[in-house]
Amino acid sequence: MLQVFQMAQSSTNKNLVFQRCIASDCGQTFDIGEALVACKACGQLLDVAYAWDHLPVPNSLREFERQWSHRNHPLAFSGVWRFRQLLPFAAEEDIVSVGEGQTLLRASDPVAKYVGLRAGHVFLQYEGMNPSGSFKDNGMTAAFTHARAIGAKRAACASTGNTSASLALYSGASRLMQAVIFIGSGKISFGKLSQALDYGALTVQIAGDFDDAMQRVQEVCAQLGIYLVNSVNPFRLEGQKAIMFRVLESLKWEVPDWIVVPGGNLGNSSAFGKAFGELHTLGLIDRIPRLAIINASGANTLYELVERRGLTWNGGRPDRSIIDKYYGELDVAGRRASTIASAIEINRPVNLIKCLRALDICHGVVRQVSDQEILDAKAQVGQGGFGCEPASAASVAGTRLLCEEGLIDRDARVVCILTGHQLKDPTATVAYHTTDKTEFERILGARGVDTASYANHAIAVDNNLDAIIRAIDRHSQGER
Ligand SMILES: *Cc1c(COP(=O)(O)O)cnc(C)c1O
Ligand SMILES: [Zn+2]
Repeated sequence: MLQVFQMAQSSTNKNLVFQRCIASDCGQTFDIGEALVACKACGQLLDVAYAWDHLPVPNSLREFERQWSHRNHPLAFSGVWRFRQLLPFAAEEDIVSVGEGQTLLRASDPVAKYVGLRAGHVFLQYEGMNPSGSFKDNGMTAAFTHARAIGAKRAACASTGNTSASLALYSGASRLMQAVIFIGSGKISFGKLSQALDYGALTVQIAGDFDDAMQRVQEVCAQLGIYLVNSVNPFRLEGQKAIMFRVLESLKWEVPDWIVVPGGNLGNSSAFGKAFGELHTLGLIDRIPRLAIINASGANTLYELVERRGLTWNGGRPDRSIIDKYYGELDVAGRRASTIASAIEINRPVNLIKCLRALDICHGVVRQVSDQEILDAKAQVGQGGFGCEPASAASVAGTRLLCEEGLIDRDARVVCILTGHQLKDPTATVAYHTTDKTEFERILGARGVDTASYANHAIAVDNNLDAIIRAIDRHSQGER
């Protein structure tokens, strides 16, 4: 095995692993030794591509289960790298792992009831259990591995918070590279900012929003030769494929009917589409689940372009004029992304084109949900334990919408991806559950949130034993 991985990295690697432009009228290929975020010929996004016929791929997904018996080996322990035969771009000795991907998939009957599906048919994939508390670690381990392989000394990203937390963690834990992070001002939640600072990243706060920070970080990386780990980095998305591998593994390799995921920069959805496309091509699954990507209505570029303006992958030749026209309109209107779900508060998703391909592969749909729907769904997830941050709950709110529409039918088996940990954004959670009307209004009112139907209010009581006991009796349903 080791030999084969080294082969993939050696002089023959050009034939086995390469970077390839996703535009069908270009398709130019590049060596994996280059750090690229776009095709040098046409500027389109790149994929990591493999000559699968010459690489050792298992005959059945069940073969991965055996990896678990070797879990004292760090690469078998990692929820990303135990599937390394499905992302075989790295030599084993270059792999940087902090034990990412120890996540859970759990059926949630309260959430099934909330969205209108049968008990036992709705599954929540808790990616908040990753070391930095979001799914981003799946991608960061892969990007870091590539960065190390090519000898990078600094790595940077623009972030709504979780990418920077993840980069900062990998940088701190591995001591291989300095992390430089770009964040918009006033946009990042405290949970996420505290991670970047605590893990020692060089933190640059730009007077602007995420879309501004994203543009600047690309300019800075190009000028200073810093390795960029945003999801335009094709290696990062290779790692994120593993989220789907683990979902299938948890479902005993049975393909669900739907995967529902929040859409921000569209890296996850793009990676999921690639994962299922490859598994299908390799004959490891016999059908592909449908993909539903959920935007917040205050950051709904994908929804607008796909569902309202008819933008499609079109065999690798999407109609760019639809996109340019829409972005022009955003500029003229001075419209900025705005949602309580800060992780998806993005109007110019960098992986838009790749995501169109994922929608094509997975016969996907896009929906938008309001901040009210997001927070109500989040409260339902939270009551079932574990919980999630606001952006993650878009997947549950979106599932509910698709069930109401009848597009997801009552017998369907649905997996909602909970992208980030509950503790990432306590401000939104506490505001939803508060009894302080002024505080509720200040934080949520501006977001169009006016009710908290599932609020769990704290009860205020005098510091007096009788009063405390009476209050508990009055409010609890428990036995005495
Ligand atoms: C990054 C992030 C998203 C958005 O994912 P994309 O791949 O950018 O679409 C959603 N939720 C959370 C918690 C995130 O950190
Ligand atoms: Zn190209």
